[in-house]
Amino acid sequence: MIIADSNALAKVKCLVCGEIFAEGSLVCPVCGAGADQFAPVAPDDASYRNDTRELFLIVGAGIAGVSAAKAIRERNHTCSITIINGEESLPYNRPMLTKNLFGQSIADQFVIFDEQWYIDNNITLVSDQRAAAIDTVGRIITLESGARLMYDKCVLALGARNFVPPIPGANLANVFGIRTQADARRVRNACEGATRAVIIGGGVLGIETASEMVKRNMDVTIVETAPRLLAGKIAPRASDMLAEILRGAGANLYLGAQAREIAGDSRATAVRLESGAELPADIVIISTGIRANISVAKSAGLAADRGIAVDAHMKTSAPRVYACGDCASFDGFSYGLWAEAAAMGDAAGANAAGDAVIYKRPPAPITISAFGTVLFAVGDSSSDSAKLYRTVELRDPQRRALESYHFLDDRLVGATLLGDVSKTRFALDAVGARVKYNEIINNILN
Ligand SMILES: Cc1cc2nc3c(=O)[nH]c(=O)nc-3n(C[C@H](O)[C@H](O)[C@H](O)COP(=O)(O)OP(=O)(O)OC[C@H]3O[C@@H](n4cnc5c(N)ncnc54)[C@H](O)[C@@H]3O)c2cc1C
Repeated sequence: MIIADSNALAKVKCLVCGEIFAEGSLVCPVCGAGADQFAPVAPDDASYRNDTRELFLIVGAGIAGVSAAKAIRERNHTCSITIINGEESLPYNRPMLTKNLFGQSIADQFVIFDEQWYIDNNITLVSDQRAAAIDTVGRIITLESGARLMYDKCVLALGARNFVPPIPGANLANVFGIRTQADARRVRNACEGATRAVIIGGGVLGIETASEMVKRNMDVTIVETAPRLLAGKIAPRASDMLAEILRGAGANLYLGAQAREIAGDSRATAVRLESGAELPADIVIISTGIRANISVAKSAGLAADRGIAVDAHMKTSAPRVYACGDCASFDGFSYGLWAEAAAMGDAAGANAAGDAVIYKRPPAPITISAFGTVLFAVGDSSSDSAKLYRTVELRDPQRRALESYHFLDDRLVGATLLGDVSKTRFALDAVGARVKYNEIINNILN
């Protein structure tokens, strides 16, 4: 067995999604951010080593599960590691599904690691199989196929699924959510010959999907319940400018609007709004958030709220069982973001292997590259009307660019960059350090 040396090449970190990869790439393989958004990172310090004959079983092969497997193998060269992969393909960069919806072969282009990496690291990937039950006393996972697998330590990395609001018609044939490669494939097929798309939900995924469809000259309408796009997540002025950019590119926006019903017999033909408006549709995308996959864990008696409850070591309430990524909740919360899932997976794997790694929640910026513009927002977006913010904004209407900085008690608490994200690193560091108002003013005016 060759233990792939993850530290052999110089590494950079994408400041937008947190992905760490070998220096030299022009774009981030996960979120597509450009090289000006990368920062060099020091090699991992996985000096802990404990070679054993233990059986490690990881359920779920997203970034959390794969990160856990990697962290275990870096610390234990002789144990057995098996990942139950609920999907058919090699684990892949999920965020690319909507960023490159009509890309040729997502499966080949966006794998996290190629097949050889699993062979070199002696990690067994059991694909197209799902866990049905966990016996935490007997330490056995039963698959839906009936197969039973024993473990010494188990890592649950079950991810999340799309939330589908109870709208009549949501189950019609040409109504989709996008969570997996199979979903993306179905959407691509359904777009053949379709001209009118209605997207319910104007969050990041909805906007990215709309952008990809507009590029194909489709007539796209976004229906969003909130009065603004990405309300509460980006500066209000950035939200208004973003809406203008989308409209300028040809997208129709219904903000502050509720979808009441998806009309059609077997196939959707229109989305009806509470206002009475009827939006004709050949395809409908529902993009209204996620729910953690917790049912297998709950049935086994593990403590769970919105996600499987974990402590700072990613331990669940059951002995020898860890959880990480979108299925887990730390401090009662999960952002549902790539960087967070990767960091949780690292910590879960390291601790399952016997190391003592404390999970530190990474910053959770919002980022979009769609409709010919780019957006980055981090921290408090100044949307809480109960707080007295001081806001400084630099606008360049010609370039449709905005820098927006929000302060509370003289300290920087949030920033949004639109149209030009070259100050991403500055904004991220300054919000993290809660830099004083005067220092920010001096910096942005010079
Ligand atoms: C279209 C899209 C775009 C996104 N864009 C961004 C972005 O730009 N930036 C960002 O930070 N985040 C983004 N995200 C979120 C990010 O992809 C997730 O936070 C991340 O993938 C979570 O990783 P995970 O490993 O916890 O879960 P997942 O990636 O969901 O992987 C979990 C895996 O477990 C499998 N599984 C579930 N149940 C079982 C079972 N019982 N047995 C076996 N396997 C099972 C699932 O099928 C899945 O393959 C995006 C998500 C989507 C869907």
